[in-house]
Amino acid sequence: MLKVLKFGGSSMASAAQYAKVKAIVDADETRSVVVVSAAGKRTADDHKITDLLYLCHAHMRYGVSCDAVFGMLSQRYLEIRDALGLSTDLEGELAKIREGMENGMSEAALASRGEYLSGLLMADYLGFEFVDATQWLRFSLDGTVDQDWSYAALRELAAGKHIVIPGFYGAMADGSIRTFTRGGSDITGALAAAALDADIYENWTDVSGILMADPRIVENPEPIPRVTYTELRELSYLGAQVLHEDTIFPVAEKNIPLNIRNTNDPTHPGTVIMERFDEDEEPADERRFITGIAGKKDYAVVSISKRGLSSEIGAIRKAFEIFENHGLAVEYTPNGIDTFSLVVSGAKLDKSLHSIISQVQEKLGTKDIQVKKDLAIVAAVGRRMANRPGISGRVFSALGREGINIRLISQDPREVNIILGVDSQDFAATVRVLYDSFVK
Ligand code: ASP
Repeated sequence: MLKVLKFGGSSMASAAQYAKVKAIVDADETRSVVVVSAAGKRTADDHKITDLLYLCHAHMRYGVSCDAVFGMLSQRYLEIRDALGLSTDLEGELAKIREGMENGMSEAALASRGEYLSGLLMADYLGFEFVDATQWLRFSLDGTVDQDWSYAALRELAAGKHIVIPGFYGAMADGSIRTFTRGGSDITGALAAAALDADIYENWTDVSGILMADPRIVENPEPIPRVTYTELRELSYLGAQVLHEDTIFPVAEKNIPLNIRNTNDPTHPGTVIMERFDEDEEPADERRFITGIAGKKDYAVVSISKRGLSSEIGAIRKAFEIFENHGLAVEYTPNGIDTFSLVVSGAKLDKSLHSIISQVQEKLGTKDIQVKKDLAIVAAVGRRMANRPGISGRVFSALGREGINIRLISQDPREVNIILGVDSQDFAATVRVLYDSFVK
Protein backbone atom coordinates (compact mmCIF):
# COMPACT_ATOMS: atom_id res chain seq x y z
CA MET A 1 0.00 0.00 0.00
CA LEU A 2 1.34 3.41 -0.97
CA LYS A 3 -0.35 6.77 -0.66
CA VAL A 4 0.70 10.01 -2.30
CA LEU A 5 -0.43 13.14 -0.48
CA LYS A 6 -0.46 16.69 -1.75
CA PHE A 7 -0.86 19.60 0.62
CA GLY A 8 -1.99 22.91 -0.87
CA GLY A 9 -0.98 26.45 0.06
CA SER A 10 -3.42 26.86 2.94
CA SER A 11 -2.11 23.64 4.54
CA MET A 12 1.44 25.04 4.30
CA ALA A 13 0.66 28.59 5.43
CA SER A 14 1.93 28.54 9.03
CA ALA A 15 3.63 26.46 11.69
CA ALA A 16 0.20 25.52 13.09
CA GLN A 17 -0.79 24.14 9.66
CA TYR A 18 2.50 22.21 9.42
CA ALA A 19 1.59 20.54 12.72
CA LYS A 20 -1.74 19.40 11.24
CA VAL A 21 0.06 18.05 8.19
CA LYS A 22 2.45 16.08 10.36
CA ALA A 23 -0.39 14.59 12.39
CA ILE A 24 -2.08 13.48 9.16
CA VAL A 25 1.08 11.96 7.68
CA ASP A 26 2.12 10.28 10.94
CA ALA A 27 -1.31 8.70 11.38
CA ASP A 28 -0.68 6.28 8.51
CA GLU A 29 2.60 4.53 7.75
CA THR A 30 1.61 4.11 4.08
CA ARG A 31 1.45 7.90 3.56
CA SER A 32 4.97 7.86 2.24
CA VAL A 33 5.11 10.46 -0.55
CA VAL A 34 4.25 14.05 0.32
CA VAL A 35 3.99 16.80 -2.31
CA VAL A 36 3.84 20.39 -1.07
CA SER A 37 2.77 23.80 -2.34
CA ALA A 38 4.36 27.09 -1.41
CA ALA A 39 2.96 28.77 1.71
CA GLY A 40 -0.46 30.22 0.92
CA LYS A 41 -2.60 32.77 2.71
CA ARG A 42 -3.12 32.56 6.47
CA THR A 43 -6.04 34.97 6.33
CA ALA A 44 -8.09 36.40 3.48
CA ASP A 45 -5.90 39.51 3.16
CA ASP A 46 -2.58 37.71 3.48
CA HIS A 47 -0.17 37.08 0.56
CA LYS A 48 0.63 33.86 -1.25
CA ILE A 49 4.37 33.26 -1.43
CA THR A 50 4.13 32.44 -5.14
CA ASP A 51 2.49 35.82 -5.80
CA LEU A 52 5.33 37.53 -3.91
CA LEU A 53 7.92 35.67 -5.96
CA TYR A 54 6.31 36.74 -9.23
CA LEU A 55 6.18 40.26 -7.86
CA CYS A 56 9.88 40.09 -7.00
CA HIS A 57 10.70 39.05 -10.52
CA ALA A 58 8.67 41.92 -11.96
CA HIS A 59 10.58 44.36 -9.71
CA MET A 60 13.91 42.98 -10.89
CA ARG A 61 12.85 43.21 -14.53
CA TYR A 62 12.15 46.91 -14.16
CA GLY A 63 15.25 47.54 -12.12
CA VAL A 64 13.31 48.29 -8.93
CA SER A 65 14.53 46.96 -5.60
CA CYS A 66 12.55 43.97 -4.33
CA ASP A 67 14.19 43.90 -0.90
CA ALA A 68 10.93 44.63 0.89
CA VAL A 69 9.01 41.87 -0.89
CA PHE A 70 11.85 39.39 -0.56
CA GLY A 71 12.09 40.27 3.11
CA MET A 72 8.39 39.50 3.59
CA LEU A 73 8.58 36.09 2.03
CA SER A 74 11.81 35.20 3.79
CA GLN A 75 10.20 36.13 7.07
CA ARG A 76 7.26 33.80 6.46
CA TYR A 77 9.54 30.77 6.09
CA LEU A 78 11.90 31.75 8.89
CA GLU A 79 8.93 32.09 11.23
CA ILE A 80 7.68 28.61 10.38
CA ARG A 81 11.12 27.07 10.83
CA ASP A 82 11.74 28.77 14.17
CA ALA A 83 8.28 28.04 15.55
CA LEU A 84 8.79 24.35 14.75
CA GLY A 85 12.33 24.35 16.14
CA LEU A 86 13.82 23.05 12.87
CA SER A 87 17.42 23.42 11.80
CA THR A 88 16.99 23.77 8.00
CA ASP A 89 19.63 26.21 6.70
CA LEU A 90 17.12 28.70 5.34
CA GLU A 91 19.55 31.60 5.55
CA GLY A 92 21.89 29.77 3.18
CA GLU A 93 19.04 28.88 0.81
CA LEU A 94 17.67 32.43 0.78
CA ALA A 95 21.14 33.81 0.09
CA LYS A 96 21.47 31.43 -2.87
CA ILE A 97 18.14 32.63 -4.25
CA ARG A 98 19.20 36.27 -3.88
CA GLU A 99 22.42 35.54 -5.65
CA GLY A 100 20.53 33.82 -8.46
CA MET A 101 18.28 36.86 -8.76
CA GLU A 102 21.27 39.13 -9.16
CA ASN A 103 22.46 36.85 -11.93
CA GLY A 104 19.31 36.92 -14.04
CA MET A 105 17.37 33.98 -12.60
CA SER A 106 14.37 33.19 -14.82
CA GLU A 107 10.81 33.96 -13.72
CA ALA A 108 9.96 30.25 -13.55
CA ALA A 109 13.03 29.45 -11.47
CA LEU A 110 12.23 32.21 -8.99
CA ALA A 111 8.51 31.32 -8.83
CA SER A 112 9.44 27.71 -8.04
CA ARG A 113 11.37 28.66 -4.90
CA GLY A 114 8.22 28.80 -2.76
CA GLU A 115 7.58 25.09 -3.26
CA TYR A 116 11.30 24.37 -2.93
CA LEU A 117 11.57 26.04 0.49
CA SER A 118 8.29 24.46 1.66
CA GLY A 119 9.66 21.08 0.61
CA LEU A 120 12.92 21.51 2.51
CA LEU A 121 11.13 22.56 5.68
CA MET A 122 8.48 19.85 5.48
CA ALA A 123 11.07 17.13 4.82
CA ASP A 124 13.02 18.27 7.87
CA TYR A 125 9.86 18.38 10.00
CA LEU A 126 8.55 14.96 8.95
CA GLY A 127 11.98 13.34 8.96
CA PHE A 128 11.47 12.36 5.30
CA GLU A 129 14.01 12.60 2.49
CA PHE A 130 13.78 15.69 0.25
CA VAL A 131 13.61 14.79 -3.46
CA ASP A 132 13.79 17.87 -5.66
CA ALA A 133 11.30 18.06 -8.51
CA THR A 134 14.18 18.81 -10.91
CA GLN A 135 15.53 15.32 -10.21
CA TRP A 136 12.56 13.56 -11.76
CA LEU A 137 9.89 15.82 -13.28
CA ARG A 138 11.12 16.34 -16.84
CA PHE A 139 9.45 18.62 -19.37
CA SER A 140 9.82 18.00 -23.10
CA LEU A 141 10.63 20.83 -25.47
CA ASP A 142 6.95 21.20 -26.38
CA GLY A 143 6.14 21.98 -22.75
CA THR A 144 4.43 18.68 -21.95
CA VAL A 145 5.72 16.33 -19.27
CA ASP A 146 7.92 13.50 -20.48
CA GLN A 147 5.98 10.90 -18.54
CA ASP A 148 8.10 7.84 -19.33
CA TRP A 149 11.33 9.53 -18.28
CA SER A 150 9.79 11.19 -15.22
CA TYR A 151 7.96 8.10 -13.96
CA ALA A 152 11.07 5.92 -14.27
CA ALA A 153 13.20 8.54 -12.48
CA LEU A 154 10.78 8.90 -9.58
CA ARG A 155 10.35 5.15 -9.20
CA GLU A 156 14.07 4.87 -8.69
CA LEU A 157 14.36 7.84 -6.33
CA ALA A 158 11.38 6.90 -4.18
CA ALA A 159 11.90 3.15 -3.89
CA GLY A 160 11.35 2.04 -0.31
CA LYS A 161 11.60 5.57 1.06
CA HIS A 162 9.48 8.24 2.67
CA ILE A 163 9.95 11.41 0.66
CA VAL A 164 8.83 15.03 0.31
CA ILE A 165 8.62 16.56 -3.18
CA PRO A 166 8.02 20.22 -4.01
CA GLY A 167 5.06 20.70 -6.36
CA PHE A 168 4.50 23.08 -9.27
CA TYR A 169 7.79 22.72 -11.17
CA GLY A 170 10.21 20.43 -12.90
CA ALA A 171 13.11 20.82 -15.29
CA MET A 172 13.88 20.71 -18.97
CA ALA A 173 16.54 18.30 -20.20
CA ASP A 174 19.14 21.09 -19.91
CA GLY A 175 18.29 21.52 -16.22
CA SER A 176 16.44 24.82 -16.55
CA ILE A 177 13.36 25.11 -14.36
CA ARG A 178 9.89 25.16 -15.80
CA THR A 179 6.61 25.50 -13.88
CA PHE A 180 3.08 24.37 -14.57
CA THR A 181 0.40 27.05 -14.72
CA ARG A 182 -0.82 28.42 -11.38
CA GLY A 183 -2.16 25.83 -8.99
CA GLY A 184 0.02 23.21 -10.67
CA SER A 185 1.14 21.36 -7.54
CA ASP A 186 -2.04 19.33 -7.99
CA ILE A 187 -0.53 18.01 -11.22
CA THR A 188 2.78 17.16 -9.57
CA GLY A 189 0.87 15.10 -7.01
CA ALA A 190 -1.08 13.30 -9.72
CA LEU A 191 2.09 12.54 -11.69
CA ALA A 192 3.83 11.20 -8.59
CA ALA A 193 0.82 9.01 -7.79
CA ALA A 194 0.74 7.66 -11.34
CA ALA A 195 4.52 7.13 -11.45
CA LEU A 196 4.46 5.09 -8.25
CA ASP A 197 1.18 3.28 -9.00
CA ALA A 198 -0.15 4.66 -5.72
CA ASP A 199 -3.23 3.09 -4.20
CA ILE A 200 -4.67 6.55 -3.64
CA TYR A 201 -3.83 10.19 -4.31
CA GLU A 202 -4.93 12.29 -1.35
CA ASN A 203 -5.24 15.96 -2.24
CA TRP A 204 -5.38 17.87 1.07
CA THR A 205 -6.87 21.33 0.92
CA ASP A 206 -9.14 23.56 3.02
CA VAL A 207 -12.54 22.22 1.97
CA SER A 208 -14.11 18.87 2.81
CA GLY A 209 -14.40 17.76 -0.79
CA ILE A 210 -16.46 19.00 -3.68
CA LEU A 211 -19.87 20.34 -2.81
CA MET A 212 -23.06 19.35 -4.63
CA ALA A 213 -23.81 22.98 -5.44
CA ASP A 214 -22.30 26.41 -5.08
CA PRO A 215 -22.52 27.41 -1.38
CA ARG A 216 -23.12 31.02 -2.41
CA ILE A 217 -26.41 29.86 -3.92
CA VAL A 218 -27.48 26.85 -1.85
CA GLU A 219 -27.20 27.04 1.89
CA ASN A 220 -24.90 24.35 3.30
CA PRO A 221 -24.81 22.05 0.28
CA GLU A 222 -23.78 18.48 0.98
CA PRO A 223 -20.35 17.31 -0.14
CA ILE A 224 -20.18 14.80 -2.99
CA PRO A 225 -18.89 11.50 -1.58
CA ARG A 226 -18.02 9.90 -4.94
CA VAL A 227 -17.74 11.38 -8.39
CA THR A 228 -16.37 10.05 -11.68
CA TYR A 229 -13.89 11.99 -13.79
CA THR A 230 -16.52 12.46 -16.48
CA GLU A 231 -18.95 13.97 -13.99
CA LEU A 232 -16.23 16.14 -12.52
CA ARG A 233 -15.37 17.45 -15.97
CA GLU A 234 -19.01 18.43 -16.49
CA LEU A 235 -19.21 20.07 -13.08
CA SER A 236 -15.93 21.96 -13.27
CA TYR A 237 -16.58 23.11 -16.80
CA LEU A 238 -19.66 24.80 -15.44
CA GLY A 239 -18.02 26.43 -12.51
CA ALA A 240 -17.24 23.99 -9.69
CA GLN A 241 -13.46 24.28 -9.45
CA VAL A 242 -11.39 22.60 -6.76
CA LEU A 243 -8.51 21.10 -8.65
CA HIS A 244 -6.22 22.34 -11.40
CA GLU A 245 -8.00 21.14 -14.53
CA ASP A 246 -5.05 19.09 -15.80
CA THR A 247 -4.76 17.19 -12.52
CA ILE A 248 -6.95 14.32 -13.40
CA PHE A 249 -5.29 12.94 -16.52
CA PRO A 250 -2.32 11.07 -14.96
CA VAL A 251 -4.42 9.45 -12.23
CA ALA A 252 -7.45 8.85 -14.44
CA GLU A 253 -5.23 6.95 -16.89
CA LYS A 254 -4.44 4.46 -14.15
CA ASN A 255 -7.80 4.65 -12.38
CA ILE A 256 -6.09 5.74 -9.17
CA PRO A 257 -8.67 7.15 -6.75
CA LEU A 258 -8.20 10.85 -6.03
CA ASN A 259 -9.45 11.81 -2.60
CA ILE A 260 -10.01 15.48 -1.79
CA ARG A 261 -9.57 15.99 1.95
CA ASN A 262 -9.59 18.85 4.41
CA THR A 263 -6.43 19.46 6.47
CA ASN A 264 -8.55 21.38 8.97
CA ASP A 265 -11.08 18.53 9.34
CA PRO A 266 -9.01 15.39 8.82
CA THR A 267 -11.66 12.88 9.89
CA HIS A 268 -14.06 14.00 7.13
CA PRO A 269 -13.90 11.47 4.28
CA GLY A 270 -14.07 14.21 1.61
CA THR A 271 -14.73 13.37 -2.04
CA VAL A 272 -13.37 10.36 -3.91
CA ILE A 273 -12.91 10.78 -7.67
CA MET A 274 -12.43 7.75 -9.91
CA GLU A 275 -12.74 6.78 -13.54
CA ARG A 276 -15.56 4.41 -12.61
CA PHE A 277 -17.14 2.95 -9.51
CA ASP A 278 -18.31 -0.57 -9.01
CA GLU A 279 -22.11 -0.30 -9.36
CA ASP A 280 -22.68 -2.86 -6.59
CA GLU A 281 -20.89 -0.64 -4.14
CA GLU A 282 -23.06 2.33 -4.97
CA PRO A 283 -25.48 3.21 -2.19
CA ALA A 284 -29.02 2.83 -3.51
CA ASP A 285 -29.85 6.25 -2.19
CA GLU A 286 -32.64 7.99 -4.08
CA ARG A 287 -31.23 11.36 -3.21
CA ARG A 288 -28.03 10.51 -5.00
CA PHE A 289 -29.42 10.24 -8.50
CA ILE A 290 -27.79 13.56 -9.05
CA THR A 291 -24.13 13.96 -8.19
CA GLY A 292 -23.98 17.71 -8.39
CA ILE A 293 -25.45 20.84 -9.88
CA ALA A 294 -23.38 23.48 -11.60
CA GLY A 295 -23.94 26.34 -13.95
CA LYS A 296 -22.76 29.58 -15.44
CA LYS A 297 -24.41 32.82 -16.41
CA ASP A 298 -23.99 35.17 -19.33
CA TYR A 299 -24.32 32.96 -22.33
CA ALA A 300 -25.88 34.09 -25.58
CA VAL A 301 -27.79 32.01 -28.14
CA VAL A 302 -27.60 32.70 -31.84
CA SER A 303 -30.50 30.98 -33.64
CA ILE A 304 -30.29 30.62 -37.39
CA SER A 305 -33.42 29.67 -39.34
CA LYS A 306 -34.05 29.07 -43.00
CA ARG A 307 -36.72 27.15 -44.84
CA GLY A 308 -35.32 23.78 -45.95
CA LEU A 309 -32.27 24.16 -43.75
CA SER A 310 -32.48 20.62 -42.37
CA SER A 311 -31.90 19.13 -45.81
CA GLU A 312 -29.23 21.58 -46.86
CA ILE A 313 -25.82 19.97 -46.91
CA GLY A 314 -22.98 21.77 -45.11
CA ALA A 315 -25.02 24.58 -43.53
CA ILE A 316 -24.08 23.72 -39.97
CA ARG A 317 -20.43 23.36 -40.95
CA LYS A 318 -20.48 26.82 -42.50
CA ALA A 319 -21.96 28.34 -39.37
CA PHE A 320 -19.41 26.58 -37.18
CA GLU A 321 -16.65 27.82 -39.42
CA ILE A 322 -17.79 31.41 -39.04
CA PHE A 323 -17.74 31.11 -35.26
CA GLU A 324 -14.40 29.34 -35.39
CA ASN A 325 -12.88 32.09 -37.52
CA HIS A 326 -13.94 34.58 -34.87
CA GLY A 327 -12.27 32.52 -32.15
CA LEU A 328 -15.57 31.64 -30.49
CA ALA A 329 -16.13 28.25 -28.87
CA VAL A 330 -19.61 26.89 -29.48
CA GLU A 331 -20.70 25.28 -26.25
CA TYR A 332 -24.06 23.71 -27.10
CA THR A 333 -26.06 23.39 -30.28
CA PRO A 334 -29.76 22.75 -29.68
CA ASN A 335 -31.58 22.16 -32.97
CA GLY A 336 -35.04 22.47 -34.48
CA ILE A 337 -36.01 21.26 -37.94
CA ASP A 338 -35.18 24.32 -39.96
CA THR A 339 -33.45 26.12 -37.10
CA PHE A 340 -30.28 25.52 -35.24
CA SER A 341 -28.85 27.47 -32.36
CA LEU A 342 -25.35 28.04 -31.15
CA VAL A 343 -24.76 28.78 -27.49
CA VAL A 344 -21.64 30.88 -26.90
CA SER A 345 -20.13 33.12 -24.25
CA GLY A 346 -22.07 36.40 -24.22
CA ALA A 347 -19.04 38.63 -23.62
CA LYS A 348 -17.07 37.04 -26.46
CA LEU A 349 -20.00 37.24 -28.86
CA ASP A 350 -20.45 40.96 -28.18
CA LYS A 351 -17.04 41.68 -29.66
CA SER A 352 -17.75 40.07 -33.04
CA LEU A 353 -21.53 40.08 -33.28
CA HIS A 354 -21.88 42.33 -36.33
CA SER A 355 -19.25 40.56 -38.31
CA ILE A 356 -20.74 37.14 -37.47
CA ILE A 357 -24.24 38.17 -38.47
CA SER A 358 -23.16 39.59 -41.79
CA GLN A 359 -21.16 36.47 -42.60
CA VAL A 360 -24.05 34.16 -41.67
CA GLN A 361 -26.33 36.19 -43.93
CA GLU A 362 -23.88 35.96 -46.76
CA LYS A 363 -22.69 32.36 -46.46
CA LEU A 364 -25.91 30.69 -45.35
CA GLY A 365 -28.23 32.89 -47.35
CA THR A 366 -30.67 33.76 -44.59
CA LYS A 367 -31.62 36.90 -42.74
CA ASP A 368 -33.59 35.00 -40.13
CA ILE A 369 -31.08 35.24 -37.31
CA GLN A 370 -32.04 35.84 -33.70
CA VAL A 371 -29.69 36.65 -30.87
CA LYS A 372 -30.82 36.23 -27.28
CA LYS A 373 -28.58 37.27 -24.46
CA ASP A 374 -28.57 36.73 -20.71
CA LEU A 375 -28.93 33.01 -20.83
CA ALA A 376 -27.74 30.91 -17.92
CA ILE A 377 -26.82 27.26 -18.29
CA VAL A 378 -27.55 24.94 -15.39
CA ALA A 379 -26.58 21.29 -15.48
CA ALA A 380 -27.72 18.49 -13.25
CA VAL A 381 -24.90 15.97 -13.45
CA GLY A 382 -25.07 12.36 -12.33
CA ARG A 383 -23.88 8.99 -13.58
CA ARG A 384 -26.87 7.31 -11.93
CA MET A 385 -29.33 9.20 -14.09
CA ALA A 386 -28.54 6.92 -17.05
CA ASN A 387 -31.30 4.49 -17.94
CA ARG A 388 -33.46 5.76 -15.14
CA PRO A 389 -36.85 6.97 -16.40
CA GLY A 390 -38.50 9.89 -14.73
CA ILE A 391 -35.50 12.00 -13.79
CA SER A 392 -35.98 14.70 -16.38
CA GLY A 393 -39.71 14.66 -15.67
CA ARG A 394 -38.92 15.49 -12.07
CA VAL A 395 -36.58 18.28 -13.11
CA PHE A 396 -39.13 19.87 -15.40
CA SER A 397 -42.09 19.63 -13.06
CA ALA A 398 -40.10 21.09 -10.18
CA LEU A 399 -39.09 24.06 -12.31
CA GLY A 400 -42.62 24.42 -13.69
CA ARG A 401 -44.05 24.53 -10.18
CA GLU A 402 -41.72 27.41 -9.37
CA GLY A 403 -42.70 29.27 -12.53
CA ILE A 404 -39.23 29.06 -14.05
CA ASN A 405 -39.26 29.15 -17.83
CA ILE A 406 -36.84 26.74 -19.52
CA ARG A 407 -35.40 28.21 -22.70
CA LEU A 408 -33.19 25.39 -23.79
CA ILE A 409 -32.89 21.69 -23.03
CA SER A 410 -30.06 19.35 -23.88
CA GLN A 411 -28.90 15.91 -22.79
CA ASP A 412 -26.06 13.96 -24.28
CA PRO A 413 -26.65 10.28 -25.02
CA ARG A 414 -24.37 9.15 -22.18
CA GLU A 415 -27.09 10.62 -19.95
CA VAL A 416 -24.66 11.98 -17.38
CA ASN A 417 -26.22 15.41 -17.50
CA ILE A 418 -29.39 17.30 -18.11
CA ILE A 419 -28.55 20.79 -19.33
CA LEU A 420 -31.04 23.59 -19.06
CA GLY A 421 -30.92 27.12 -20.35
CA VAL A 422 -32.85 29.68 -18.33
CA ASP A 423 -32.87 33.46 -18.10
CA SER A 424 -29.81 34.68 -16.19
CA GLN A 425 -32.15 36.19 -13.60
CA ASP A 426 -33.56 32.70 -12.87
CA PHE A 427 -30.11 31.18 -12.45
CA ALA A 428 -29.90 30.97 -8.67
CA ALA A 429 -33.54 29.90 -8.32
CA THR A 430 -33.00 27.09 -10.84
CA VAL A 431 -29.98 25.75 -8.97
CA ARG A 432 -31.92 25.86 -5.70
CA VAL A 433 -35.01 24.15 -7.13
CA LEU A 434 -32.90 21.33 -8.56
CA TYR A 435 -31.01 20.92 -5.33
CA ASP A 436 -34.16 20.92 -3.23
CA SER A 437 -36.01 18.47 -5.39
CA PHE A 438 -33.19 15.93 -5.58
CA VAL A 439 -31.14 16.31 -2.46
CA LYS A 440 -33.22 17.64 0.38
N1 ASP B 1 2.19 27.79 -5.53
C1 ASP B 1 1.68 27.66 -6.85
C2 ASP B 1 0.56 28.67 -7.06
O1 ASP B 1 0.27 29.46 -6.18
C3 ASP B 1 1.28 26.28 -7.20
C4 ASP B 1 0.31 25.62 -6.27
O2 ASP B 1 0.13 26.02 -5.13
O3 ASP B 1 -0.29 24.62 -6.67
O4 ASP B 1 -0.01 28.73 -8.11
